[in-house]
This record gives sequence, structure tokens and C-alpha cells, in this order.
Amino acid sequence: MKSLNLKCRAKINLSIDVLGKREDNYHLVEMIMQTIDLYDNVNIEEIDSGIIIESDNEHVPTDSSNIAYKAADLIKQKFNIDKGVKIRINKNIPVAAGLAGGSTNAAAVLVGINKMWDLKLTQDELMELGLQLGADVPFCILGGAAIARGIGEKLTRIKGLGNVKILICKPDILVSTKWVYQNLDANEISKRPNTKNILNNLEENDVQALANNMVNVLESVTENEYIQIKEIKKKMIEYNALGSMMSGSGPTVFGIFNNLEYAQMAKKELQQVYKQTYLVNTYKGGIEIEG
Ligand code: ATP
Repeated sequence: MKSLNLKCRAKINLSIDVLGKREDNYHLVEMIMQTIDLYDNVNIEEIDSGIIIESDNEHVPTDSSNIAYKAADLIKQKFNIDKGVKIRINKNIPVAAGLAGGSTNAAAVLVGINKMWDLKLTQDELMELGLQLGADVPFCILGGAAIARGIGEKLTRIKGLGNVKILICKPDILVSTKWVYQNLDANEISKRPNTKNILNNLEENDVQALANNMVNVLESVTENEYIQIKEIKKKMIEYNALGSMMSGSGPTVFGIFNNLEYAQMAKKELQQVYKQTYLVNTYKGGIEIEG
């Protein structure tokens, strides 16, 4: 039987702006996405029929609500494939965290099945399919760094962050993305990111200026409800992070460090309270097929 191992990575947002709403109620955004080297391992194995999902993490659904299941189903239907797949997801990416954990699993399934069954879909075609599953899936296929517009699907590759350490800290609270958007009053946003400036900062590799310019308009919604967000940001800055911000709709907070020792000290302290704390690099690629 055929089988394949993949590594699929998480993302952080270096900025998020919400510009309005589409008629179908999807939010129009402008955001800068950066892949980080925090990954789940996904194994895809051909079976006689059906779709089976397994995971080592109890918070990951194993039924048809899993976005990786939906990815397999979509591609099986598109190509009329009778064979089935068993998908094993070993999680390192915190779940429901604002790190696109589910989306990157779905991206891995699309890329993996395309390879395993030699379907010959191009990256653009895979990204188009991915969009049917979720707005973050196309970026997870592309990887690296990009600016996302529209509902997140219009992607332009940009020069990303290099040579820095990213400290990721996920407090143990559940934040629903839907709740965050519902509580965001688009007319009341007082501070928006200057995306053009941030793109210039990346182009010039001016990490301090970038860190100063980072804004996530969703942050105040989550921060007003959960004190942990501010506490983690404060701690990261105390340890000389160049900047610290919430990723996505939260609750994960990340800090950008140019000093490994400070980053390690911050990690050690935060880990005493927040178990899901990781020190990682940025990553330039997308889904990685192993072997
Ligand atoms: P995003 O940044 O794209 O909004 P997220 O990191 O906030 O995503 P996920 O980790 O994708 O959030 O999880 C959101 C919810 O989706 C979880 O509560 C879980 O029930 C469900 N889910 C479905 N499939 C998966 C999957 N493969 N991995 C993790 N969660 C999944």
C-alpha cells in the first residue's frame, strides 16, 4: 500500500487589518502571514475505501468535521477515486490557537494525496481547491511569507522575516474566531496597521521597525476579555523582545527576538505558567514531503 509522510507548518500574522464585509458576511482583510518552523506530522496511507482520521491529540476531531477529512473527501470526489485514505495527524501546533493548525493539516492532505495518487495538480490548482476548505489553506500550501487580501485568498508572495527567533505562547483559554469577529466593530477600530510600511520594513530587513509597526486589529477584542494576552506580551517585552503581538484571532501571542539568550529566558519563565510555549525559527517553504 502507498504511504507518505509530510510536515505541515503553522503561521503567524505580522499584521491584520479588517477592511469590511462581503455581502455573504465574510470579512475582507489585509494581512501579512509568515510561516514558522512549528509543525505537525501527517501520515497518509492508502486504504481500500473511506477516510479514517487518527490523532495523538484529544482536541482534534476524528470525524468528518476534521478539515483534513474534508480535504481528502474533496479531492476524492473531484477525481472520482474509490480508494480510501487513513490520515494520522501528530500534533505539535496548539489547537484553536490562531496558528492555522487545522488549515495546514488540510493543506498537507491536498499536497500529499496529489503526490501519492499522481494527480498532477499544480500548486495554483491545489491552492484553489484549498480555498474551498478555508481562507488560510491556500497560504499554508504556498508557505514562506505573503500578503493576503480579499477574504485571505488573494496572496502575493513577499520577502519574509529571516534570522530571528519567534517565541510562541498559547494560554490555556478557548477563543472562538467567530466570537472575535462578531465583537469587532469595524467602524470603531482606532489603530490600523500601515501595511505599506511593514512591507518596506521586511524588504529592508529592518526587524525593529517591523516589530514597532505590527498591528492586529483583532487583538483588542480578545485582549479585553482575557488578561493573559497582555500579561504574555508584557513578559516578552521585559525579556527584550523587539515586539510582541497576538496571532490571528488568538489566543496565541508571539514575540520576535534577535537575541537567543533572552528568548530562551523568556521561554523558561513563560513555560512555568503556559505549557504550550515554543521557541522557533521562521520558515521559507510550504508543505514538506519527507523522504
Ligand atoms: P486559524 O488560524 O486558521 O483560524 P486556528 O489555529 O485558530 O486556525 P485550528 O487549530 O485550526 O484553529 O482549530 C480550530 C477548530 O477546528 C478546533 O477547535 C477543532 O475542533 C477543529 N478542527 C478541525 N480539524 C482540525 C485539525 N485537523 N486540527 C486541529 N483542529 C481541527
